[in-house]
Amino acid sequence: MAEHESLEFGKADFVLLDNVSMEEFMANLKLRFDKGRIYTYIGEVVVSVNPYRAMNIYGRDTVEQYKGRELYERPPHLFAIADAAYKAMKRRNKDTCIVISGESGAGKTEASKYIMQYIAAITNPNQRAEVERVKNMLLKSNCVLEAFGNAKTNRNDNSSRFGKYMDINFDFKGDPIGGHISNYLLEKCRVIFQQEGERSFHSFYQLLRGAPDSLIRSLHIQKDPAAYNYIKVGGQIKSSINDGADFKAVADAMKVIGFTGDEIQTVYKILATILHLGNLTFGVDGDVTLIENTKLVSILRELLSTKEENVEKALLYRTVATGRDVIEKQHTVQEASYGRDALAKAMYERLFCWIVGRINDIIEVKNYDAKIHGKNTVIGVLDIYGFEIFQNNSFEQFCINYCNEKLQQLFIQLVLKQEQEEYQREGIPWKHIDYFNNQIIVDLVEQQHKGIFSVLDEACMNVGKVTDEVFLQGLNTKLAKHAHYTSRKLSPTDKSLEFDRDFRIRHYAGDVVYSVVGFIDKNKDTLFQDFKRLLYNSSNPVLKGMWPEGKLSITEVTKRPLTAATLFKNSMISLVENLACKEPYYVRCIKPNDVKSPLLFEQERCRHQVEYLGLLENVRVRRAGFAYRQTYPRFLQRYKMISEFTWPNHELSSDKEAVKRLLQGCGFDHDVAYGKTKVFIRTPRTLFSLEEQRAEM
Ligand code: ATP
Ligand code: MG
Repeated sequence: MAEHESLEFGKADFVLLDNVSMEEFMANLKLRFDKGRIYTYIGEVVVSVNPYRAMNIYGRDTVEQYKGRELYERPPHLFAIADAAYKAMKRRNKDTCIVISGESGAGKTEASKYIMQYIAAITNPNQRAEVERVKNMLLKSNCVLEAFGNAKTNRNDNSSRFGKYMDINFDFKGDPIGGHISNYLLEKCRVIFQQEGERSFHSFYQLLRGAPDSLIRSLHIQKDPAAYNYIKVGGQIKSSINDGADFKAVADAMKVIGFTGDEIQTVYKILATILHLGNLTFGVDGDVTLIENTKLVSILRELLSTKEENVEKALLYRTVATGRDVIEKQHTVQEASYGRDALAKAMYERLFCWIVGRINDIIEVKNYDAKIHGKNTVIGVLDIYGFEIFQNNSFEQFCINYCNEKLQQLFIQLVLKQEQEEYQREGIPWKHIDYFNNQIIVDLVEQQHKGIFSVLDEACMNVGKVTDEVFLQGLNTKLAKHAHYTSRKLSPTDKSLEFDRDFRIRHYAGDVVYSVVGFIDKNKDTLFQDFKRLLYNSSNPVLKGMWPEGKLSITEVTKRPLTAATLFKNSMISLVENLACKEPYYVRCIKPNDVKSPLLFEQERCRHQVEYLGLLENVRVRRAGFAYRQTYPRFLQRYKMISEFTWPNHELSSDKEAVKRLLQGCGFDHDVAYGKTKVFIRTPRTLFSLEEQRAEM
């Protein structure tokens, strides 16, 4: 139990609840939130509630309080977890990772930044220039990634629209010497469309509101977002975000990180290209499809450093191979519009991945001490989308929720594994713990041939008419008997499911109804080869470099590109493999209300999150074994005053013997186990009683 906290603030660790019930859990969470205590532990997991106000708990003095301390010595805090991960890495030479989860607006990204800040603050005591450089890069990269990957949504003014995993590499002295970022599933449809009240990615507004006039002119753009179809919905939103100032900050950060002038110019050209693309309209003249605003074509040509006729051709025609012949097939207006939007989305996605790649080139571990000494340990920080249940759930929610199933599975395995290993190390018999194992849902989604992703890929490969309904029929056939899958066809009386449209998955976190509309299209994620070739043939080397596959002519493109689902599945599997070999620390973020209020704790909302984050289960697992464990010297240090055998010092043969004596004296011997180096206490009541006795002394 964390010190320096009186019970007036509730229990600092949920394992200390008298009863593990939702009521008690919620009462404790609320009490602590009301008292301004936003962090609470479940063993070594931090539960965090977004305070929606500036908290004076991240400064230098707080860093000093947590530096090098043990978890329970200070009130619960992110810094304590960061320190624990750092200590494990440094002292025990372990790779560690910190997994941050929670729904949109719950505070994941802020938490990840505080964790990085803490690590930066406690490392490099000798102020080595190279380490300072690396630290600066790591911190600066956030600003760039947020500009291009975050957007204002109805849930969060600075919502990350991608998943992020960052490894920080340390040398044998424990100082950061490099890093690597992996990004997952950028929500690229935001480039062409936003819900009411939402914006596109910050980068567009930053460019329009912050670029100097000369740049605005050279890109042939206007400052008003309302002039652009793709972003005009979001352009009218008044927000607290200062896009103009952010433009400069991001430009500076890119320079500091090491992007060249040409690279930065190309980034702006791509943003401008996308804005212009959105204004491009198509019409017909007889049976010819044409571009209505031809002036835009010459602007696009200039921005993309390519030939005008090539731009026009790529937008209006598609090269197809029929047998040995190659023909140019004219698009209909509808196809041309589809192609235009696909191009805009793909260019932005490619730009984002390219930015991540460039940052990685620069922050990757170079030939320093780590490589020479062969010791290079890692702390990974994962800031990834939480479970999503919306009014209308589509392919994106399906992927995101699958990701959460994977992470939950990992959590179960690792937490249980860790417990088991600790008991083995300490020589205490292992007792089986009962819990819901969600592997069955993971399989439902990802299993070869039978899983939902396989059925989807199969439907996409059909030569005949491929429709979302065909996909749904495939699911119904293959999954008719699966306990976690249903649809209207399988449950005809269930009116909450539309017949040719919906299926429902029973996730570990709750039931979600998905609409199949758009699944096929989003999974195929087609971008005509003509566009890839257009961009590859650009005389701008930066742009060309982003589209290597444009090199192939249509007859050479034999392999089908991997589908979006397969790519995502593969990236999740490798993410989980990567995390599984590290010692994990968890931060579970909770959003207290929908109105960004620092005062409001919406009971129902929070309860729902506690449920789907599996927090009660977590407490149960933690308590099923031993709720509390402590090394003998530490235990004595805290409780020796309550026994005549140990106060002020004991004369027994070992600290272990002394602890035994103390606990026997209090009548708690039946509730504890004595490991090699630690005492394990089963029920929190025992601990309370010890605490009470200590307080009475
Ligand atoms: P998303 O999934 O949409 O990216 P998120 O979980 O990353 O959401 P954040 O962007 O971290 O959410 O937090 C949303 C907002 O909540 C922040 O912009 C900030 O205003 C507030 N906030 C979060 N954590 C804290 C904190 N520890 N102290 C003060 N304010 C916070
Ligand atoms: Mg975020």
